Amino acid sequence: MLTGVLGWPVAHSRSPAMQNAAFRAAELDWRYVKLPVPPELFAETVRTLPGSGYRGANVTIPHKLAALDLADEASDAARAIGAANTLTFADGSIRADNTDAGGFLAALGESPRERTALVLGAGGAARAVVWALQDAGAADVAVWNRTPQRARELGARAVERPEPADIVVNATSVGLQDDDLSSLPLDAIGAPAVACDLVYRGDGSATPFTVWASRTGARVVDGLEVLLRQGALSFEIWTGRAAPIEAMRKEISPHT
Ligand code: NAP
Repeated sequence: MLTGVLGWPVAHSRSPAMQNAAFRAAELDWRYVKLPVPPELFAETVRTLPGSGYRGANVTIPHKLAALDLADEASDAARAIGAANTLTFADGSIRADNTDAGGFLAALGESPRERTALVLGAGGAARAVVWALQDAGAADVAVWNRTPQRARELGARAVERPEPADIVVNATSVGLQDDDLSSLPLDAIGAPAVACDLVYRGDGSATPFTVWASRTGARVVDGLEVLLRQGALSFEIWTGRAAPIEAMRKEISPHT
């Protein structure tokens, strides 16, 4: 059985190593491959996958909206977020899920119910995080974004300046390429209880947001843990089995 990740570009993805480790640990003769596909070929490529032995695929930038559009059915999360990161092929139909939301909540490691949250960023990842926090009963979800208009489109409380909150999430791409945090006005945030960075680096090195968060005394959740948990949910959707979390974590850990 085949699975894979559809993106453009997709060369940097850690998902093949992580999912192939999961299949080995679960003793499944499955493979997970990189599927680099440009936007103009996305829909026709997806439609060929079921006939080529594919059970499903993850979807990353820039195809998450198109993935939801072409699906025959979609989970509540995918519909509410307006994007899908997991496609499943069964009985001639295509189902869309969004495991970015559930993966973020699982990585958080505690319920955000009755807690306040601040999300930095208003792109696709922030959209999933905001929905997840609201769906899980957060008392308040504030969104700050460099381009304020985009923050106002997320269905949460848009703020002009970051403010203190129990849970702070970096859903911008700041820290992906360099260590410069200066475009995030973090000074007013104070000391959150939990800080989660969605950004992770190929070599697993600490991101500037997690370094900042550690200094505040927050419990830190890094982007690799979020990647792991969304991948585990995709694995479970495709295989119907519990994901071998430790084997997957070991594969993407910077110490392996
Ligand atoms: P996106 O749709 O391109 O959104 C990027 C966001 O970052 C926007 O809010 C953008 O603000 C902001 N931004 C970019 N450069 C900035 C800067 N210099 N200063 C302040 N804000 C800046 O990307 P996305 O899909 O939401 O992904 C965001 C990050 O999360 C990426 O690094 C991605 O790799 C990561 N991610 C990780 C996981 C995981 O499993 N760990 C899952 C999904 C995404 P503007 O609106 O002003 O442009």
